[in-house]
Amino acid sequence: MTTPLLVQDGMVVSLDYSLRLAAGDVIDSSSDGEPLEFLQGAGQIISGLEQALYGMAVGDEKQVTVAPVDGYGEMDPAGVQFFPASTFPEDMELEVGMALQAQDNSGHVFTVYVSEVQEDGVLLDFNHPLAGETLHFQAKIAGLRPATDEELAHGHAHAHGHSH
Ligand code: ZN
Repeated sequence: MTTPLLVQDGMVVSLDYSLRLAAGDVIDSSSDGEPLEFLQGAGQIISGLEQALYGMAVGDEKQVTVAPVDGYGEMDPAGVQFFPASTFPEDMELEVGMALQAQDNSGHVFTVYVSEVQEDGVLLDFNHPLAGETLHFQAKIAGLRPATDEELAHGHAHAHGHSH
């Protein structure tokens, strides 16, 4: 008799999923390509989804509702800030929804979004685009395997277990 593999720390999970917001639209899913592969327990996916997967077996399917605090965080009004037009290159067309790369003082690159265009500048939103949203996942375990030593050392899954 063999024990079925279950989702636990140190397993590489292949996940088929779709993500809907409260309004009902599917905004992301794995259906167009390969299932999402990640190392369980390593914080590679949002915590609210990761926590809900423990103990599931291949083929198990589940609906998971994730509150903002366990998802992309609450919307922080202080995260919306005004930047004068002179901050940007002169020939740059700034539009609402446009993604820009920004850099913090320690050199980390992150993405901010133009949330409003004003006459003399723009409002940039430093919140994640899904901040404040309750997330509704349909999740199905498509595959499970123990992580390789290298994956455990790196703290993430490698595509098809390939080394790098
Ligand atoms: Zn690696």
